[in-house]
Amino acid sequence: MRFPIFSLAFAVVVGLVTAPPTLAEEPQLPEAKGPPTLVVAIAVDQFSADLFAQYRRFFTKGLARLGEGAVFPSGYQSHAATETCPGHSTILTGARPARNGVIANWWFDPKITRGDKRVYCAEDETDPASTSRKPVVSAVHLKVQTLGERLKSANPASRNVAVSGKDRAAMMMGGRNVDAAYWWAKKGFGTFAGTALGKSALEMNLKIAERIEEGSPGFELPAFCAARDRAVAIGKGSVGTGRFARPAGDLRAFQVSPLLDRATAALALSLVDEFQLGRDDVPDVLSIGLSGTDIIGHAYGHQGVEICIQLAQVDDMLGQLFGSLDQRGIDFVAVLTADHGGIDAPERLAQQAYPIAERVDPDLSIEALGQRIGNETGVTVSKGPLLLGGVNGDIYLSAELNAEQRKTVAMALLATLKAHPQIAAVFHGDELAAAPMPVGSPQDWTLLDRARASYDESRSGDLVAVLKRGVLALPVRLGLVATHGSVWDYDRRVPILFWREGLAGLEQPAPIETVDIAPTLASLLGLNVPESEFDGRCLDIDGGPDDSCTQ
Ligand SMILES: [Zn+2]
Repeated sequence: MRFPIFSLAFAVVVGLVTAPPTLAEEPQLPEAKGPPTLVVAIAVDQFSADLFAQYRRFFTKGLARLGEGAVFPSGYQSHAATETCPGHSTILTGARPARNGVIANWWFDPKITRGDKRVYCAEDETDPASTSRKPVVSAVHLKVQTLGERLKSANPASRNVAVSGKDRAAMMMGGRNVDAAYWWAKKGFGTFAGTALGKSALEMNLKIAERIEEGSPGFELPAFCAARDRAVAIGKGSVGTGRFARPAGDLRAFQVSPLLDRATAALALSLVDEFQLGRDDVPDVLSIGLSGTDIIGHAYGHQGVEICIQLAQVDDMLGQLFGSLDQRGIDFVAVLTADHGGIDAPERLAQQAYPIAERVDPDLSIEALGQRIGNETGVTVSKGPLLLGGVNGDIYLSAELNAEQRKTVAMALLATLKAHPQIAAVFHGDELAAAPMPVGSPQDWTLLDRARASYDESRSGDLVAVLKRGVLALPVRLGLVATHGSVWDYDRRVPILFWREGLAGLEQPAPIETVDIAPTLASLLGLNVPESEFDGRCLDIDGGPDDSCTQ
């Protein structure tokens, strides 16, 4: 605990000043609060700033409490590859993907010796049992420390616990050095290979199995969702009117429903007790990845009743979680943000004043491009494809090519992509490597700046392509109707909300970045980290005259 450098009471006690006769009648200043004992870091997957703006007036529980704290409605996942792994990697490291190394959910390593050239962001590919589809889950790819790891380095008694609906969210927020990490794995929560499940997870999995067996008729429609209750045809089916009815025993229906987040939040609370988080003066970190909004957003889009029901449920469950922490007398600071935003399905956008939205041209699939460039240049490879990756980001050339062939293929590909009406920009890796790190407001960054913040020389593609605004890198396919991942602000902008008991609230509409979260919390916790280790800056989250960055 730190005291103000020169408080009046202190000065009086040590006799530096003579107390004026009226001192006893002066109002007592509230006692300076020490650091919080628990950081609750919540990432609501795919919770765009647009969804927050649309629904915030309807929140009455946990999200309403956060809305009374320090509200930054225009937070930025400022980089280009607005995917889950990079998004979660920025939140507690304070580092953009260009520094933290997590450039995408999957990247390609054409030189890797295993047959599977794709590398998953949260796998240890040096483990022979690991593949990009069935990974041996690990945070080895994260090149920098998370907040929880920094606290543990400062004091080994600090606990760092992460739980999420997705392994990559838990890994990127927790980091390599965690006391426990749980994520949804097939039928319930799982953890690292070779590690036994703890008491909380075992109990939670039993409860989950019961809920799945029971099935459910679905959720009541909140009144404020009624206006969204309209079917939109996509492919051979439709979305927009779902209630999450679940046949008994349907595992997938449980996963694609608000219950996944309910289970995640309930497990998080059990872990608070199992690990006695926030119970002593040594601050702990609890990272919670709520994946449901993303799963539901992909399955149903953003403007139907499904996402509306989901957000009402997130509000409610967070209210319960915070209330339970209050009951335990824990002085916690909560931060909530998202790993990326998202956009609705083009079929509904076409009805709702955004006709430019469309799905990516099948000719831009990596297979079609590889074929075309191979034919055009006459360059062939004996093993595997000529090109790897995808047109909505990193594209890699086969490791078989010699220097001259690489140049020929890269030039042909650049020309083909640049001529395509759905492509906004294409950058060569060399161009990105030579570009300076972007500075200034993320809303003003050029496309090159955005791609630079996602660029890691050892992992990024030989070329990086950018689709035009409104072009979704997702073919028509029921079960997955909308997506994210682009350089555009509907995918980059996310809310950032801080709350702590007694904190004077504020609303700051100016853009900030998710990499500002870690330095802000570090300062609040009295953790000394050289500024040069963060890409972000400390935000003064105290709306009053006190400055939370200089406590
Ligand atoms: Zn995500």
